[in-house]
Amino acid sequence: MTATTTSGLDEETGPTALSIGRRVRSLRRAQGLTVAELGERIGRAASQVSVIENGRRELKIVELRSLAQALGTTLDDLLDPAPPSRRDALEIALAQALSGPLAQTLALPELTPRKGMPDEAIETILTLHDALVSLHERRASTPEEARRANTALRATQRERGNHYPELETVASGLLGAIDHRGGPLSHSAATELAHHLGLSLHYVHDLPVTTRSVTDARHGRIYLPIRQDGADRRVPLLQALAAHALDHREPTDYADLLRQRVEVNYLAGALMMPERSAVELLSAAKGNRELSVEDLRDAFAVSYEQAAHRFTNLATEHLDLPVHFLKVSASGVLTKAYENDAVKFPQDALGHVEGQRVCRRWSARQVFERDDRYGIYHQYTDKPNGTYWCTSSVQSDPSGDYSVSVGTQYQHSKWFRGRDTTTRQASTCPDLGCCKEPREGLAGRWDESARPSARINSSLLAATPSGSATGIDRVAVYEFLEAHSPGDA
Ligand SMILES: [Zn+2]
Repeated sequence: MTATTTSGLDEETGPTALSIGRRVRSLRRAQGLTVAELGERIGRAASQVSVIENGRRELKIVELRSLAQALGTTLDDLLDPAPPSRRDALEIALAQALSGPLAQTLALPELTPRKGMPDEAIETILTLHDALVSLHERRASTPEEARRANTALRATQRERGNHYPELETVASGLLGAIDHRGGPLSHSAATELAHHLGLSLHYVHDLPVTTRSVTDARHGRIYLPIRQDGADRRVPLLQALAAHALDHREPTDYADLLRQRVEVNYLAGALMMPERSAVELLSAAKGNRELSVEDLRDAFAVSYEQAAHRFTNLATEHLDLPVHFLKVSASGVLTKAYENDAVKFPQDALGHVEGQRVCRRWSARQVFERDDRYGIYHQYTDKPNGTYWCTSSVQSDPSGDYSVSVGTQYQHSKWFRGRDTTTRQASTCPDLGCCKEPREGLAGRWDESARPSARINSSLLAATPSGSATGIDRVAVYEFLEAHSPGDA
């Protein structure tokens, strides 16, 4: 337990100026001395003794010795951190609570407990303080809250086959307004879309690091980063336009944040791959039994991941195909997932799938073990609840390699390019004998002598700063807007 999380009533801590002061006061009173009399003995004014007794000054060792002598006690006794009485314990705890981080955020007026203040009053304040601190701690335990919200969101996506007609309508309305006739949406068309929405674009070097864009709704400006590192410049722009078109405000909690993110990404995808022309292309491909994510990617000049994601929006609604989608890190950990084809993602006791390790026999992991890991990979996998066909591709971003996979049940694989693959794997996960335990003999040989050094994920210990579900630094954003504002003419 740390000193910042409780009022400190039951804690073992070293002596503080206040604990020493309270021992001085207790000893002085026991001897029937006034502050003035004690002051005389140590050559100080009465007011100085009060300052010491209230713990408002750190004492030097010579001063401590002189006090101990004046009170007929030892230095050790003065330095004993144990409060001399229950009342002193309460007052010390109150002082600690009122100088702690919670009280500082509340800007409370200074409170010095007077003699007439009952113990119960102090106890009540301490109890309320501790309850508030623990409430904040629970709020700050964001990973669990985020995971819960994400699992709930995935269930609603599954129910609607990951298709959002209202967002498709918004997308086709916007594209109609700039007379876009299908095919890839160029960066200049995206810019035209911004102007249609009454927004001007400003590319800057000093975008706050906690943001991917900042919209100044009052002046109709969108600020975007200049540096792109070869990334698709349309994406942050379209995401900002989508948030503006959907009138997204700062999210109030994780559920809100994730819903907004899904809507923004969906709308940005629907703008880059308009429903009508994408469905035309996919339907023709299905007719030729040549369905593929890579053709969608190439036709609309988007990333493989964007194409795979967009494919899941349209496959069930327009092609009558149940599908699954997963994004898996090079270490095998699932970071994004969607399914309505009953594929069983690994999950924890609470039903969360993100952060779980995917079966090593699955296409999403086998693709990493191939020589040609950046090509398109196809595989059949016999799973406990049936055979699935999957297509996987390894992608890279600054944080490393990851695989993006799309798959479906065996009976629907006949519509896809790559159905003729002879690669087949068997997975019996979550059965431990599948891939989660070392092969026979290996454990016996290595149990005692393997000493791997873990690479710790720094985000493991740092939750999102409290007070905001997004982690956005509002101070930085306001200062940024102030610096770039054209003024309020
Ligand atoms: Zn397995």
